[in-house]
Amino acid sequence: MYQSSKSLFERAQQSIPGGVNSPVRAFKSVGGTPVFIKSAKGAYMVDEDGNQYIDYINSWGPMVLGHAYEPVVKAIQAKVALGTSFGAPTELEIEIAELIKSMVPNVDLIRMVNSGTEACMSAVRLARGYTGRNKIIKFEGCYHGHADCFLVKAGSGVATFGIQHVPGVTAAVANDTLTCAYNDLNAVKALFANNKEEIAAIIIEPVAGNMGCIPPAEGFLEGLRSLCTEMGSLLIFDEVMTGFRLAKGGAQERLKIDADLVCYGKVIGAGMPVGAFGGRKEIMEHIAPLGNVYQAGTLSGNPLAMIAGYTLLHELKTNTDRFSSIEKKADYLKDGLIKVLDASGFPYRINHLGSMLSIHFSENDITDFEAAASANNARFNQFFHAMLKRGIYLPPSAFETWFISDALSYEDLDKTIEAAKEALAEIE
Ligand code: PMP
Repeated sequence: MYQSSKSLFERAQQSIPGGVNSPVRAFKSVGGTPVFIKSAKGAYMVDEDGNQYIDYINSWGPMVLGHAYEPVVKAIQAKVALGTSFGAPTELEIEIAELIKSMVPNVDLIRMVNSGTEACMSAVRLARGYTGRNKIIKFEGCYHGHADCFLVKAGSGVATFGIQHVPGVTAAVANDTLTCAYNDLNAVKALFANNKEEIAAIIIEPVAGNMGCIPPAEGFLEGLRSLCTEMGSLLIFDEVMTGFRLAKGGAQERLKIDADLVCYGKVIGAGMPVGAFGGRKEIMEHIAPLGNVYQAGTLSGNPLAMIAGYTLLHELKTNTDRFSSIEKKADYLKDGLIKVLDASGFPYRINHLGSMLSIHFSENDITDFEAAASANNARFNQFFHAMLKRGIYLPPSAFETWFISDALSYEDLDKTIEAAKEALAEIE
């Protein structure tokens, strides 16, 4: 069933570390061979052996409207013949900045970068430059990319592989990253009390997606907002997953909280390599060339990435029914999964907000990293493989969220629920 993937994986390991260019793809924690993808269209991906999958990863979020969304493909095709990179400004960069500003009201200025990592790393540097303080608070199990300051109690692959201390991250850098449990406002208050006037920013996934999906508890984000205002620290929302997915204006709009800085990722390029960070003018104007907080990128604002992102975001802005359509599908899937999970007898929790969803096999509510880590993740790994062989492509770790796209049909969702029923009957 996976013969071509198997031989490609063997070959890949001869020239690429672990055979992959990003660790979670290696299926290391779930075991087995990663499937090598040949093509994708709408809700489906096809691997090198010709197996077709209903996709719940969606390139880790950005394919809100599905793969190879036709207007995006056509826009890229039209643009590519005009040149692939100039290293000079273009009108299109203004157009996408204006479009984002019209969708996210508290963004006055926005700077394009090339990945979610760069966006978060740059936002933290800016927060430090703006406040003149060094420390940041991040939450256990949140992932903000692989910049040194974030590789402390991180989620996603760092959690999947159980890496406690990342070699190469110096103690000096790690010491400036303070951590506490997600959803624990008192712990954040204690960090502020013990580090008076030292905290530049809190960075948070407003809906966590890198330890499975963990929505914020009632009052948690509001509490962070008022603490930051009171303490003169900046609140940074990492909306790499939630941006332009939970609502037109992302988690800020959906949860009615204004962050000081906001970071976006791959969705801004409709899956092309892009990120961005933005915020209020008085903060953003500290960035070079207006200010001295330096940040740059040869490929930033790349025309192909910009036209792809512009086309997707424009559709999401003009057709906001898309968001309710995706959410209805997510609700339908959740209800169906609950039925088959209840019938299976396994203890479980489904966390869900908007079009983000995850299952943990646990008797306890999953509200932070510790709870996610103490779930029966070995059972999740079995579930993953039982689903994969039935043509359902889930994230290969319980420390990841599933993403619903609007390309999914109700028939696809029914197939997924039926596959889950069979998979649950097969696993232990
Ligand atoms: N922040 C969040 C919330 C993420 O989920 C990710 C990656 N999935 C990143 C930042 C880093 O983005 P990238 O992989 O594009 O560097």
